[in-house]
Amino acid sequence: MKTCDYCAKQIDYHHQYCCDECEKEAQLYYTRQKRSERPVSIVNVIAFFGAIIGGFCAAIFDPQKGTAFCAVMLTLLGITYLIFPYAPDGIVKKHKILKSIKLIRSIAIGFLAMAAVLFVLAIFVF
Ligand SMILES: [Zn+2]
Repeated sequence: MKTCDYCAKQIDYHHQYCCDECEKEAQLYYTRQKRSERPVSIVNVIAFFGAIIGGFCAAIFDPQKGTAFCAVMLTLLGITYLIFPYAPDGIVKKHKILKSIKLIRSIAIGFLAMAAVLFVLAIFVF
């Protein structure tokens, strides 16, 4: 059984997509994904080191500022993945484009929710 590369609907073996619409969306997806590779990897590096530095500050110097800094980094990640919802190739291959976009968007919302919790902690607890 073969499925549409975009929406995962069942299709016959001669096609890659179920309709023109899906093919168009898929092409758009791949173009945007290519264009986003560099900015997304830069944000990943910034957020990764930012979270370490923030965690370090929270533990050693100032829990409030350190936690708030971590929350800012999580917000940055969340917003980036909402704008660029591109999963690694393996996930896209397995779940198809439409579902992998939803998956990355829900992870992004998870980051934003965690950031909100950290902001609340930084403001009211520490
Ligand atoms: Zn389709």
